Amino acid sequence: MSKTMAINAGSSSLKFQIIEMPEEIVLAKGLVERIGLNDSKFSLEFGDTEIEFTQDIPDHDVAVTILFDQLAEHKVVDSLEEITGVGHRVVAGGELFKESAVVTDEVIQQVADLGEFAPLHNPAEAVVMRAFKERLPHASMAAIFDTSFHTTMPAVNYIYSLPYEYYEDFQARKYGAHGTSHAYVSRRAAEMLGKPYEELKIITCHLGNGASITAVQNGKSVDTSMGFTPLAGVTMGTRTGDIDASLLPFLMDKLGITDVNEMVNILNKKSGLLGISGVSSDMRDVENAAGEGNERAQLALDIFVNRVQKYIGQYVAVMNGVDAIVFTAGIGENSATTRAAIINGVTTFGCDIDPERNNTRKEAIVSSDAAKVAVINIPTDEEMEIAREVERLK
Ligand code: ADP
Repeated sequence: MSKTMAINAGSSSLKFQIIEMPEEIVLAKGLVERIGLNDSKFSLEFGDTEIEFTQDIPDHDVAVTILFDQLAEHKVVDSLEEITGVGHRVVAGGELFKESAVVTDEVIQQVADLGEFAPLHNPAEAVVMRAFKERLPHASMAAIFDTSFHTTMPAVNYIYSLPYEYYEDFQARKYGAHGTSHAYVSRRAAEMLGKPYEELKIITCHLGNGASITAVQNGKSVDTSMGFTPLAGVTMGTRTGDIDASLLPFLMDKLGITDVNEMVNILNKKSGLLGISGVSSDMRDVENAAGEGNERAQLALDIFVNRVQKYIGQYVAVMNGVDAIVFTAGIGENSATTRAAIINGVTTFGCDIDPERNNTRKEAIVSSDAAKVAVINIPTDEEMEIAREVERLK
């Protein structure tokens, strides 16, 4: 039996799945949270068993040790030899990684060096890759970059209107993110429509805690809403999305903040749905509060919908047309009301929502037969896409 692990390491978290390949059966999954903080949490699910405990986990290396101890203790794997592949999600691949890469010592160093572009993620990911390489030297290992899918963007869409030397000297440009998800759902949309991927114009809306919109033309990402980092684009759970950069010095002055990183932290962690509503970063909480008459929660919902609509409009312009609009991730897949609110405001482009078809969380075309532009709901599966990449590179 061949088992592949899909690993998604964040600054203080480590998500994992163990997938039987090529059958694509998820055997186990879990999460280590609050790494480096007190009371870190470990959880693991396999079959009907759920394990959860709290213990201080000081760093990612210790998190990996605990993960392997737990897998052995609960006999999730009989021996580590069974794990023949590991895929690591990496946030920033810069201009270097246009595709997934086999993990070598050089690649790990390059991932660490790209830490400048994703200081919270890349260094942690490099540590986790090293930890897995030490413990599973026999396994094929691949790095799957969030940015790779977007490396096909033309310069007209990735160059900022700044002095050009900043791009040449510092690689300051738009990179985007969520590439694995945008790639997976756009390809799947073409399959569902029974049309060649290379001939379609698709707008993919990945609406989760982090959210991004991508224009996929002829099977290639041509523009995307996240920027140099995942802070740009639409309003998100805790991130501002696009704002006027002049607000930074203005607010720093008002708030008595002298360190710009502290200000950027507010834009990343205290803004978006959370900042506007004052209720929560979680869409379900915001929807519930709005339902109970909380006006700021309603405003947060309206702003969220408005920003996604504006990006859909932009990308119709960027591609000079659109054949399908795809929704995915936590909000996109599950919130029929958000999908309807977004689409009902952009019907001029030829799309619509069939309320009955839209009442779903599964893969489905949710527009009417009369619509010129299909609206499609597709649950994303980044872990499976990662496992497939590992198989492909073996
Ligand atoms: P992450 O970016 O952390 O992977 P997810 O893709 O899991 O995020 O999305 C999390 C978001 O999805 C949260 O805002 C959550 O409230 C939202 N969500 C999940 N289920 C629903 C639902 N049934 N209705 C509305 N929002 C939902």
